[in-house]
Amino acid sequence: MISEKRATFPGGVHVPDNKYLAEKKPIEIMPAPEKVYVSLSQHIGKPSEATVSVGDRVKKGQLIGKEAGFISANVYSGVSGTVTEIKTISTPLNTATYVVIQNDGLEEEEFLPPIDKEDSQAIMQRVRDAGLVGLGGAGFPTYVKMATDEKIDVVLINGAECEPYLTCDHRMMLEHGDGVVKGAKYIAKALNCQTVIIGIEENKPDAIEKLGAYDGVKVVPLKKKYPQGSEKQLIYACTKRAVQPGKLPASKGVCVFNVQTAFQVYEAVEFNRPLYQRVMTVTGKGIKEPKNLLVRNGTPYAEIIAYCGGLTDNAAKVIAGGPMMGKILTSVDGYTRKTDSGLLVEDVTEVCITEPSPCINCGRCAKACPMHLMPMYIDLYTQTGNFERADSYGATNCFECGTCAYVCPAKRDLVGSVQLCKRKLRELRS
Ligand code: SF4
Ligand code: SF4
Repeated sequence: MISEKRATFPGGVHVPDNKYLAEKKPIEIMPAPEKVYVSLSQHIGKPSEATVSVGDRVKKGQLIGKEAGFISANVYSGVSGTVTEIKTISTPLNTATYVVIQNDGLEEEEFLPPIDKEDSQAIMQRVRDAGLVGLGGAGFPTYVKMATDEKIDVVLINGAECEPYLTCDHRMMLEHGDGVVKGAKYIAKALNCQTVIIGIEENKPDAIEKLGAYDGVKVVPLKKKYPQGSEKQLIYACTKRAVQPGKLPASKGVCVFNVQTAFQVYEAVEFNRPLYQRVMTVTGKGIKEPKNLLVRNGTPYAEIIAYCGGLTDNAAKVIAGGPMMGKILTSVDGYTRKTDSGLLVEDVTEVCITEPSPCINCGRCAKACPMHLMPMYIDLYTQTGNFERADSYGATNCFECGTCAYVCPAKRDLVGSVQLCKRKLRELRS
């Protein structure tokens, strides 16, 4: 069923989406690399603990990292082969323990045991065992989100994909819509919830039509506006429920899951396959052949770029994720993680090189902020070292969407100030 209204939230900004580069590219399976480098810390929470040793033979789908606490997640191998190293590696994104596996190319696969698909507890346990985390980028363990004491009456699937350039969720809905819907229904069964809503931005009319044809789910077309896909904004747009600052969506009876998370629940419940691969978008004017790729966990970024034809002569900046919330990479010496939704390579025409200038108090950042914060004062007080004062304007409620920085005519690094403020507050309050 499709609701006709274009739902949205207060604030936000209209950003050119530049999805044309990859949105028509069907998902391609990237051949598994000769070696994978699998991080044991690719989720929010405690790193998992290695369950293999150097020299061990492993299969695809075999557990190599066991969750190490309530907020943690299992990690599985995406290839069959031999563990050659377990060591600490620093990448432009983090420093963590990695399990390095030499791929033997045999693709021998191991599966989780079958479960009773009608049993809500068994589904919940499967989500946990399969190592599922939020695949929209947050990386929060999915079972922890589902293990709420609150009564959930809406499972909300996030198909907004409001981050410019990225198209992997769009392709998933078009090419694997059946799995996305079935996965969403398994989640609803586990939560004993009757209502499944899928929010999709209006720039994906084919996905709206496709998923709208399924029984038992309601598709809500969303206005194209950034950050339409952030949790609280999506919940408001689809249900008109306002989640208060500092509260979780479950406090309003809602649980939100990315479309790829829903699909991976389907894979884990129906096919007993844990999470060891995902679809990501490789795009931007700095990459020769933009693609949507199914990649194994731990694939070197450099090999992905090479598989997409390499960089153009004008390539200027590589970002893990999209341009608004992604992280700039100082090198491509990194490896895919569960949370990687994209690799964006901007060329010189796409990169902003304007130097920041003093704030002119225009108020645009505050008007655009979807959390109704005062970014200019967070910036001002952070820069003068008054972090508690900066927090009184909402620093710790900021989810770093980048909307304020995007609209700022002075090109101030407002997100950088928020991040600095949060770091300093953590130090001060620990
Ligand atoms: S202050 Fe935070 S939440 Fe508000 S627009 Fe800026 S980055 Fe987004
Ligand atoms: S948008 Fe930029 S210049 Fe305008 S008030 Fe905010 S920080 Fe200052």
